[in-house]
Amino acid sequence: MNNKYKILVVEDEKNIQTLVSALLETEGYSVISAYNLAEADMLFVSHRPDLIILDLGMPDGDGIVFLKKLRKTTAVPLIVLSARNSESDKVDALDAGANDYVTKPFSSAEFLARIRSALRSVRLSETGRLPHATFNVDDLKIDYESRRIFIANAEIRLTQTEYNIVAFLAQNAGKMMTYQGIIKAIWGYPDGGGIKKLQVNMANIRKKFGIKPGEESYIVNELGVGYRMKGLEE
Ligand code: CA
Repeated sequence: MNNKYKILVVEDEKNIQTLVSALLETEGYSVISAYNLAEADMLFVSHRPDLIILDLGMPDGDGIVFLKKLRKTTAVPLIVLSARNSESDKVDALDAGANDYVTKPFSSAEFLARIRSALRSVRLSETGRLPHATFNVDDLKIDYESRRIFIANAEIRLTQTEYNIVAFLAQNAGKMMTYQGIIKAIWGYPDGGGIKKLQVNMANIRKKFGIKPGEESYIVNELGVGYRMKGLEE
């Protein structure tokens, strides 16, 4: 198992930088540290990291601005690590192209799981996963070619829209997709009562999947932000 991924940690607080670096190195990742955005820019170009951890409050600017600029040229997986915990901050970062958003203080286990998940999504796209491949997480299986979904080998009957939502989340497994991002992908236009429609569809999907209210299974809902299909390594 090749674990020697290069991770660029963009964080101005020395103690968090030290903590995160130590954690990542213990897991076998190699770490590059940037203490401001100018340095991050430079190190990204010179080191081409496999993943970026980005703090938003940086001394020479806002991390979101850095993220937006970065996304014009690269799809490198990026996880925001921030003390800002409002829904709008999360939505802004995810819509700007962050793969995930972790708030401080964070749990090491969950943080590492998010990193594995973000790296995994890249591995999948790099190996050129074909559209007719299948998706598996826990006992959920999606057959993209026949557009059929199974849980523990029993077929789940979904409407076209419900299937499209599940397949879209599965193709972005491990990544938090915002409500607007999903609505745009499924219905092709932003909002306009879309959130309600999405929620109704999600409620039906959960019911058909046999997920009880309040239970988190296969699909994680972050209230006010979006939905995330669980990655394989969670
Ligand atoms: Ca900071």
